[in-house]
Formats: sequence, structure tokens, C-alpha cells
Amino acid sequence: MTDRIETLAVHAGAEPDELSGGVSPAIQMSSTFKQDGVGKPRDGYEYGRSDNPTRRRLEAAIAALEGGTHGFAYASGLAATQNLLYLLDPGDRLLMSDDAYGGTWRLADKVWARYGVQTDAVDLRDLDALAAALASGPPARMIWIETPTNPLLKLVDISAVVRLAANAGALTVVDNTFATPYLQRPLGLGADVVMHSATKYLAGHSDVISGLLATRHPDVAERLRFHQNAAGAVPSPFDCWLVMRGMRTLAIRMERASQNAAHIAEWLTGRPDVTRVYYPGLADNPQHELVELQMRLPGAMVSFELAGGEAKARKVAEATRLFTLAESLGAVESLIELPAAMTHASVAGSPLEVPAGLVRLSVGIEAVEDLVADLEHAFRA
Ligand SMILES: *Cc1c(COP(=O)(O)O)cnc(C)c1O
Repeated sequence: MTDRIETLAVHAGAEPDELSGGVSPAIQMSSTFKQDGVGKPRDGYEYGRSDNPTRRRLEAAIAALEGGTHGFAYASGLAATQNLLYLLDPGDRLLMSDDAYGGTWRLADKVWARYGVQTDAVDLRDLDALAAALASGPPARMIWIETPTNPLLKLVDISAVVRLAANAGALTVVDNTFATPYLQRPLGLGADVVMHSATKYLAGHSDVISGLLATRHPDVAERLRFHQNAAGAVPSPFDCWLVMRGMRTLAIRMERASQNAAHIAEWLTGRPDVTRVYYPGLADNPQHELVELQMRLPGAMVSFELAGGEAKARKVAEATRLFTLAESLGAVESLIELPAAMTHASVAGSPLEVPAGLVRLSVGIEAVEDLVADLEHAFRA
């Protein structure tokens, strides 16, 4: 078709319904499918866990958006992650971004550790540290990259990690939840698999929990397809439809939210009561150049710390009116939260622990003047 994301987001997987011509594709809810003869399913559809027409559309859409050949949909981002970790065997080692999503770390470190998979956290910004981690200990089978990371918004040079991983024979996975294919396309930079919590920007409206994977490797795809069916953490057809409906506006939402975030990051930087702003797009951010190298825009997540520390941070987060105090991110409405007490409580005491007074904003698509006024008001609390 094209490889422009704006067009793909609207059209990929969303061809008009074959039977009725419905421009918004029908949702196929059936859990089972009539066969034309014994063992002769139509179009490969047998049973709803194994495959479903609505899910197939979503899987085609994420494959197209990420420049992959195969897409996979799951009941949540963590179900997608779980499905990827089935590629590992007991004795295998996983290297993970030291600022990865708390739930990803918990799944690896608390669940997979019991089955003999060892996970080590590495600051993947530091390529020497990665090389040292690859050179010591049991061989690493997989490197889990998150960029930008959650909630400190560190960037990882995807191509550089891919090169080191290739020499070591490790598979590279990129959690592309924060960037989305509109801002960054990891498969084109050499990554093996892209993972999404589609709950966030792809669906974009805080109304569905969903996970997606995309890859170009037929052999990896075959194993993922097998485990998707064997383990069964599949999404409902309605959820698949909701994600696709959200994805159609991905480009304009990301564009507007990123613009708003850049404005707010600048505004925060100018305030005497803010001690530190985490936003890769700021000119004085040491990783500013990586944005140019691998991203279209720096994204719509902003974190910061206040002179008044954790106590002040709590007050601000409870005083905003437009920014809703809530976990999650990536939707049309702006959200505010304290990661240490909320989203990242599960990583307290681990190498992934975050500053207690850190405030994280998921900047939405509202008028930026209103968002700034809301923060200004809350800062006086
Ligand atoms: C939310 C999130 C996940 C987990 O996805 P769920 O849909 O909540 O299961 C994984 N990675 C990142 C970066 C996230 O923000």
C-alpha cells in the first residue's frame, strides 16, 4: 500500500466489510466456525482462541504499522510479554532495561525466575555496560529494550544494542509502547520483535486492555503463533475492534500530544520550584541527539521532580483538575501520577526503583494553555 504511518493507521486491516460493504468492519463474535467438510475450515477459521476475523484484522494492522510481516494480539500487554518469554528455556538469561515497566520486570524476576530464567537489569544507555553483561555470566538469549523508558524517559540506541546482540546471538525485543510506530519503528532499526501495551497510545482512549507483537522473522512468528493458541491469553473480538478504532487516529493524536508535552516540558524547566525535568526533547537533555537519530518526535510523556520533594509532589498530583490522578497513560486525556507510590510500587527495593518524589505526566490532546493553567494552579497547592 504505502509505508506512511498516517495512511496505514487509517487503512491497514480496516478494509470495508466483505459481506455488507460496512466501512467500519463488522465485529465477528463467533467462538466457532462452520466447516465445509471434516477438517476443512474456511479461510483457516476453526475456533475463536486459535483465530478470529476481527483479531486477524488487528494483527495485520500492527504488522503493517511496525513494518513487520506477522502481528499477534493478546488480552493485555503483559500477556504479549508472557507469550514472548515462552521463547526462553530454563537456564536462559534475559537482559532488561534497568528502567523498564515495573510489571515487565515483575513477570521476569518474580515468575520466570521460578522456571530457571535469570533476568539481569542493565542500563542500556551504557553500551560498555551491555557489552560487559553479555561477556559475563550465562549467555543472554534475549535483550529487552524499552525506549523511551517508563518513567525516567531514558533513550536506548536501538541499532547499537541490536549490533551487540547480534554478535552475542541474542534476540532483541523493543517495548514500543511509549513511542508507537508513529514516532519510532524498531524493526527497521534491526530489532527482532516489537511489543506494545496497546492499552496506551494505540487504543488511545482509556477503554481497553490489550497487547500486541510484531516481527519479520517467520520462525519467531511460528513459535509465537503456537504459544498464542497453546497458552490462550487472547483478546475478545470487541477489544480488537476497539484497538483498531483507536489506531485510526494514532498519527494526529501523537502529533498533538507530543507538541503539548514539549511545551509543558519547556514550561516546567523555567520554574524555580521544579528541580529536574525528564523529557528527551529538551535541548539540554544529554540524549537529545538520539531523538533525531531514531524518533520522529520526543513523545508525550514528561516526568519531573519538585523542590518540595515527595510531600509537595503528592499535593500537586492531588490538586490538578484537568490532569486526572490515575495510573496508565497514552490516551486523549491528560493524566498525572506518582510512579513510586502507584505504577512502580512493585519495583521498590529492586534495581528499577524510582525517586519517591517523581511526578509523571501523560500529556493528552487538550488545549495546552488549559493544561499549563491546571499545573500552575496545582503548584500553588
Ligand atoms: C502498561 C505497560 C505495559 C503493560 O501492559 P498492560 O496492557 O497493562 O498489560 C508494558 N509496557 C509499558 C511500557 C507499559 O506502559
